[in-house]
Amino acid sequence: MARTAVVTGGTRGIGAAICTGLKKAGYNVVANYAGNEERAKAFEAETGIRAMKWDVSDFQACVDSVKTIEAEVGPVDVLVNNAGITRDATMHKMSHEDWQKVVDTNLGGCFNMSRAVIDGMRSRSFGRIVNIGSINGQAGQYGQVNYAAAKSGIHGFTKALAQEGAAKGITVNAIAPGYIDTDMVAAVPANVLEKIVARIPVGRLGKAEEIARGVLFLIADDAGFVTGSTMSINGGQHMY
Ligand code: NDP
Repeated sequence: MARTAVVTGGTRGIGAAICTGLKKAGYNVVANYAGNEERAKAFEAETGIRAMKWDVSDFQACVDSVKTIEAEVGPVDVLVNNAGITRDATMHKMSHEDWQKVVDTNLGGCFNMSRAVIDGMRSRSFGRIVNIGSINGQAGQYGQVNYAAAKSGIHGFTKALAQEGAAKGITVNAIAPGYIDTDMVAAVPANVLEKIVARIPVGRLGKAEEIARGVLFLIADDAGFVTGSTMSINGGQHMY
């Protein structure tokens, strides 16, 4: 029977590429989104993948949505925690609300969704969780204390949960993308983006499909020895 995969923030950008990659590889896929209905409808029409709306920062909504998916689609074997937002400002201009929103969505969402699927994965002795971190969680970034802290938290979260899941057939890994050509990066001012691209040894932005490729590797049934790792996919921009 085909495995079921849930991708948060799956209707646009990196998440959409992950969903289409998973579908092509034979998974039953559910793509979550926050509120962009027009995009979600277009995504469903283009891909035939079911889109489901809930807010990953709302714990109960995550629990209820996973219950619905398990009843209507199948047990969740693969979770990709991809939903993320930015609310950039330097510290002295950042509101508490912008701090909280980014931490609650980017890091809180990982807890909420992982907590909602973990009991089922443990009982079936199989699971694959991939958390989408960021180069800016590894290296920090001016104007992004909220985002860098949340993404850095994802990397610690991944290593801790990997240790808990190991004996139960559950792997937990992170991908740290560099700058990828999506709406999120389109919001970066052109002069800033030019300077960023100049620092990428490969000489271009990444493609969403290049992140999907990493996800497909990490979630494979025969990737059970890869856990607690962070895969950097960044065109050589940050190496360590
Ligand atoms: P986009 O802004 O293109 O898409 C974000 C997706 O997340 C959308 O589907 C959006 O839904 C969804 N989303 C946002 N907030 C919530 C929420 N509270 N609950 C549920 N879904 C939500 O992002 P990218 O594709 O660029 O980024 C995907 C991930 O990769 C993010 O975690 C990002 O931080 C990370 N990343 C991206 C990089 C890049 O260069 N693009 C670099 C490094 C990391 P809706 O359409 O309804 O708004």
